[in-house]
Amino acid sequence: MSVIGIDFGNESCYVAVAKAGGIETIANDYSLRATPSCVAFTGNTRTLGVAAKNQQVTNLRNTVCGFKHFLGRKFKDPVVQNELQSTLYRVEERPDGSVGIRVDYMGEEQVFTPEQITAMLLTKLKVDATSELKTQIYDCVITVPSYFTNAERKALLDAAGIAGLNCLRLINETTATALNYGFYKQDLPEPEEKSRNVVFVDFGHSAIQVSACAFNKGKLKMLAATSDLVGGRDVDMMLAEHFRKEFMTKYKLDPRSNKKSFLRLLTEVEKLKKQMSANSTKLPLNIECFMNDVDVQSSIQRVDMEELCKNLFQRIEDVMKRCLRDSKLTLDEIHSVEIVGGSSRIPAVKHLIEQIFGKTSSTTINQDEAVSRGGALQCAILSPAVRVRDFSVTDIQPYSVMITFDNENGQRSDMEVFPANHAVPFSRLLTMARRDSFAVKLYYADPSPCLDPFVGEWKVNDVKPSSTGDAQEVKVKVRINHNGILLISSAQMVEKREVQEEQQQNGSENDQATAAAAQQPSPDATPSQTPSGEPMDTSGQEGASSDDDVKSPTKDTGNEKTGWTHRISRWFSSDDKKKKKSNKVIELPIVSRTHGYSQVEFDKYFELEGKMISNDRQEMERVDARNALEEFVYDMREKLQYGGNLYDYIEDQIRDQICRQLDDMENWLYEDGASCEREMYRTRLNELQQKTDPIKNRQTEYEGHQQAFNELGHAI
Ligand code: ATP
Ligand code: MG
Repeated sequence: MSVIGIDFGNESCYVAVAKAGGIETIANDYSLRATPSCVAFTGNTRTLGVAAKNQQVTNLRNTVCGFKHFLGRKFKDPVVQNELQSTLYRVEERPDGSVGIRVDYMGEEQVFTPEQITAMLLTKLKVDATSELKTQIYDCVITVPSYFTNAERKALLDAAGIAGLNCLRLINETTATALNYGFYKQDLPEPEEKSRNVVFVDFGHSAIQVSACAFNKGKLKMLAATSDLVGGRDVDMMLAEHFRKEFMTKYKLDPRSNKKSFLRLLTEVEKLKKQMSANSTKLPLNIECFMNDVDVQSSIQRVDMEELCKNLFQRIEDVMKRCLRDSKLTLDEIHSVEIVGGSSRIPAVKHLIEQIFGKTSSTTINQDEAVSRGGALQCAILSPAVRVRDFSVTDIQPYSVMITFDNENGQRSDMEVFPANHAVPFSRLLTMARRDSFAVKLYYADPSPCLDPFVGEWKVNDVKPSSTGDAQEVKVKVRINHNGILLISSAQMVEKREVQEEQQQNGSENDQATAAAAQQPSPDATPSQTPSGEPMDTSGQEGASSDDDVKSPTKDTGNEKTGWTHRISRWFSSDDKKKKKSNKVIELPIVSRTHGYSQVEFDKYFELEGKMISNDRQEMERVDARNALEEFVYDMREKLQYGGNLYDYIEDQIRDQICRQLDDMENWLYEDGASCEREMYRTRLNELQQKTDPIKNRQTEYEGHQQAFNELGHAI
């Protein structure tokens, strides 16, 4: 069993594997290390990765790429609406307000969710990795942008589950990069020494992420992570718009009026942009037969591009400055600035780094593969299947997270549970005085319109007043787990009882056993009392713990939306002079309403993906059978022709007859037989082989005689 790290990029994905000898990047079916994040549909076939990208121009309506930012977002979300400006396939609003992607597949129009499309891509990555490594792939770590919200993270986890992957963890792309940097460094400061602080700039296709990280031997701690949805594709768009305006005046052509032409222009300007990274002189743009058979020509140089993209570079500058500010580091405290991501090759970005951080950027880690390699390392650290030394990772989350609830007298209370840049994973225990069941909501406080504030709502049930009618102490655990997902992970009611000493002396076994349990050091074991009914909290950095945010078709992990936690009661006691206090801790059932599929939805999509996988396999076998027949026809015709190696072993009349049959078969393959069942091709191939096998046998027999004769000749 191999463990892998997957960098799910907006433009392309990388997969790395952790092996005994180290981390390796896996090549796909085209022997390329980057697999385009692209899924296409033609007839009854799904085409994935490189092949999908290659056929995009001829199948625009059914080629889905650049879907990373649809995950977990509503159709009306400004980010989705912005994506739609450049989307060439059909995207619509589903009845529940989520994003639907409409394609023609299996003879009808079908609407897939972004999770399903992502699962298809992950299926492809899994298949390629399986065939490259020749082992089963199940465990993986998938990287996500540090700015991904609960909804986006849950959607990606669902996609992984649908693809039959067991995602051991979602790790932030920034953190994976830092892990890949720190893991191999031999000269990191000792734990008690001052940390080495490194800034990482990941400028990709759809976003820029900047992070600051403190390293010591065997550990890293993220200090800050900032981002903006500005990426290399925005530079392409600026260039394309520039040339569009020029062509409109110069050639009276509007590339926007034709999707294919605009895509072609985008492809050409991207090439030009890459050339500009290495070259500051004027570079030509020539596109033959661009539109209406007109050849277009122009040129551009790096300074022009920088002028066009001034606003984009301003945004990048802001992200870097924010990270510097949030990290609270002085420039002297920064050891180096590492750059990753395809767009970090743009010289203007390197200049900005020099301006802001006062250092030239370094490229000690692989610019394209650092993220996936970090993911594979994290997977190896987590998985028992591979032995690697441990490396402790303390991450952060970028949003201010609030909790809201109505208190006993109906007044709404809001309080911040995790400020921006708070450590992850982490739990916070809030203690409230309650007589009745109640609900709490978690939401993001940041005012950005691109951030849907809703995280989830949790109803804590079965709360009852004490026997004397007083409010009970209820402890609610708010958690941000290793995947960066927020949840209410437990709620407990602490029922206080006072009993006479003599009664207590006869206490049950249960009491004694749980009294010991209560002494274990855990943040949960120390209740906090609040006279006002307002929550108090005790908090703690967490060790490993499992949550129900990973769904799997094989094990029922329960449905968070309707899931009921187990009821476990335990007692703990404390001595009083005359009376003995005896507290009963009752786990309360929680019902949650949050993002992510219910188990029922998940099972449905898992089954559908399974059907599509088996359909892909059948389709592949069908195409293989057709190709085998076609190949046989060409091959046999060549061999039977004058000069071919079977020519002499057949009578002229029969040869003509077989050649006619071969011609008929070829015609059939292009007409009625263009898409038949696999068995049909196999039967036809068999029929032909039965006719040609005797000829081949005669040739083999004759050559055998010849050889025997020759050998005999030598012997004589
Ligand atoms: P994201 O991180 O946004 O999800 P991604 O990981 O798929 O996207 P990368 O593979 O890091 O993105 O980068 C792809 C981008 O890098 C593309 O926009 C591409 O045009 C750009 N790029 C690649 N090489 C160069 C270069 N030499 N000069 C300028 N830009 C480049
Ligand atoms: Mg990336």
